[in-house]
Amino acid sequence: MTEQSEPLEVRDRALEVVGLTRAYGEFYALRNISWSVDEGTWWGIIGPNGSGKSTLLHLLSGVDQPTSGNVHIYGKRVGSYSRKELSRLIAVLQQEGLPPVGYTVREVVEMGRFPHQDWLGREKGVDVEAITDRVLERLGLTTLADRALDRLSGGQRQRVALAKVMVQEPRILLLDEPTTYLDLRYQLEFMELLADWRQETGVTIIAVLHDLNLTAQFCDDLLVLKDGMIEGLGASSKLLTEDRIRRVYGVEPVMLPHPDSGVPQLLLRRSASDTTDSTD
Ligand code: ADP
Ligand code: MG
Repeated sequence: MTEQSEPLEVRDRALEVVGLTRAYGEFYALRNISWSVDEGTWWGIIGPNGSGKSTLLHLLSGVDQPTSGNVHIYGKRVGSYSRKELSRLIAVLQQEGLPPVGYTVREVVEMGRFPHQDWLGREKGVDVEAITDRVLERLGLTTLADRALDRLSGGQRQRVALAKVMVQEPRILLLDEPTTYLDLRYQLEFMELLADWRQETGVTIIAVLHDLNLTAQFCDDLLVLKDGMIEGLGASSKLLTEDRIRRVYGVEPVMLPHPDSGVPQLLLRRSASDTTDSTD
């Protein structure tokens, strides 16, 4: 992660949210969220189960509408884009990125170009096969290109989902707990692939993440949600404090600096009743 030290750097505002509220009847899943995201930044959204993280992502991607407030993508209301225009700007990757259907890896990855194609599936001046080949190569998927998706492991399938959004070439990528079902190695690999891609293309990343240690290592900034409200907003190194983790998650944390980078890392204390001497 490179820190931009230029004080007067002007970046495009990729996304802006003002007074966003989403209610289901009497219940407020999100309340009065105001937030702006500069192009090229990597934000993490964290918070306990049910705090409104997925609801927020659905509003950002335009698949759900707020009860009040609004979302602007590159200065225009999200609802004023056509579905296809929006898909050229925003890609979404879910917890289980792709259903294990019978398509081959190559077929699925090529579908990522859909927002750029006309109704006959054509795209002027773009060699879809070449773009696809490049991404498959980069993600180490070349030898799996003709394999059906249902013949892949969860980790491989998640990499294919990433390949598909890379081929889509969005300016903003939204992810909802993309590493939840991956083992440690695949989790780290997935985050590193994202980091490299961002470095190279300047894509803006907004990711709901459960693992606070990975979050601290990869995200510049954090939006912390609790009960549908913003509990913290800003640099992840400043926000990940013992106090806040205790308040937001109701656990007893110990924060230590990562030996490599100094970013905060989390350990959990067992509750008092669990730590009684076993010889008692
Ligand atoms: P998170 O992703 O942080 O776990 P969600 O955004 O999925 O939380 O949900 C936030 C709250 O909104 C939860 O209490 C959930 O039960 C509620 N909720 C989500 N979708 C609906 C819905 N369609 N109808 C009623 N309540 C909902
Ligand atoms: Mg969720």
